[in-house]
Amino acid sequence: MTKDKLGLVFFPAFDWAISPDHPEREERLLYTMDQLMEEGIEDLDQIQMYKPDIAEPKDIERVHFCVPDVKSRLSKSHLVSIGGVIKAFDLYFSGQASKAFALVRPPGHHAHKIVYGDRGFCIANIEAVALEKMRQKYGNLKVAIVDTDCHHGDGTEDIYYNDKDTLFISIHQDGRTLFPGTGYLDDLGGPSAYGYNINIPLPPQTGDSGFLYVLENVIMPILDDFKPDLIINSAGQDNHYSDPLTSMNFSAQGYGRLNKILNPDLAVLEGGYSIEGALPYVNLAIVLAMAGLDFSHIVEPDFNPSKVAQDPKVTAYIKNISREVMYRWKNKEALAKEVFADAKVVRKEKQIYYDTDGILEKQSRYFHRCTSCSGLDIIHSEDDRLTFVKAITIPRDACQACEEKAYEEFSKSKEHFNFVYLQDKKNDKYLSK
Ligand SMILES: [Zn+2]
Ligand SMILES: [Zn+2]
Repeated sequence: MTKDKLGLVFFPAFDWAISPDHPEREERLLYTMDQLMEEGIEDLDQIQMYKPDIAEPKDIERVHFCVPDVKSRLSKSHLVSIGGVIKAFDLYFSGQASKAFALVRPPGHHAHKIVYGDRGFCIANIEAVALEKMRQKYGNLKVAIVDTDCHHGDGTEDIYYNDKDTLFISIHQDGRTLFPGTGYLDDLGGPSAYGYNINIPLPPQTGDSGFLYVLENVIMPILDDFKPDLIINSAGQDNHYSDPLTSMNFSAQGYGRLNKILNPDLAVLEGGYSIEGALPYVNLAIVLAMAGLDFSHIVEPDFNPSKVAQDPKVTAYIKNISREVMYRWKNKEALAKEVFADAKVVRKEKQIYYDTDGILEKQSRYFHRCTSCSGLDIIHSEDDRLTFVKAITIPRDACQACEEKAYEEFSKSKEHFNFVYLQDKKNDKYLSK
């Protein structure tokens, strides 16, 4: 084991963008790279840089149902971005680094289980794909993903909604004021993992003190209770006061302190669109914090304390939300009994809008409850181009009966579905027809 070494995997995808003037564009990591070099991080003993791996379709099929298939949906840049996260996770698990940070793009936290196209600049959930590969390689892990992006991590929520070994906590600007419009307090998870999906919607103009309040009074106590083997920061830098897409007032110092306290084993870059004003400073502060180095000198050129000051009304609102979240966490078992009672199947209806590709998807998701395992998860989905999909997931802890039932479901006639998929997480298999 290499002690106290931060592995840094960098993939800027300089030749790929949705369009030339799109916010998620080629230059996003250019200024960050300059800033890291200027700081001389390559010469520091505590930090080592690595090149990304390239993900394979099989890696993506552990998490997603790409319609019609992985090759049609993902570009080479996506495969390298995911490969960058896989490399970072591998550095950690193989002991080559004690922590790792994947500074890659395109991002991934808006990508749901089913993928018809691009939404929120994401097609594949980069940290989920890497995590599931690690679970196959290194066995079951109890993981906490803390999504610090300004947008709700709706894709990660969707993927882990019924998985109680993956605690998902998203802090984000309230969905009533920002894409994707989700991430509410009462979206607490499926019947086998109720309470393990935690949304903390914060009001616009939340400043450094608000983020750190939630971290210290909600996130850290919940992590102390949950005791994960691994903490992943799904790190979006778009809470910054200069970000053009959002309305928060977080600073590079705030981000550095957040990472020092959270102390994630792994971090994965998600959003952040203030390319010159925020990303170089926020990313550098996180790198130094994760490497256990001093970051107190990392200050944006235009910083002054008024940029992160917080209205007392915002402070009061955040304290109240924090109490609400803790109430749900402490009472999750009792609340689950109330919500699900003795239902054998729990049905969840959802509409998913692909803002980049202009696709509207409708889903009915059926969580089949089982007393011996997490139960089957079956999604019936259609997009507005009338593609009908049935997607069956066998959980990692599946019992024999559920496993057999899933294969029976898959072997039934296709009926009116264009595509039927089976993701067998127990035996690491993927079937489609
Ligand atoms: Zn974002
Ligand atoms: Zn079962």
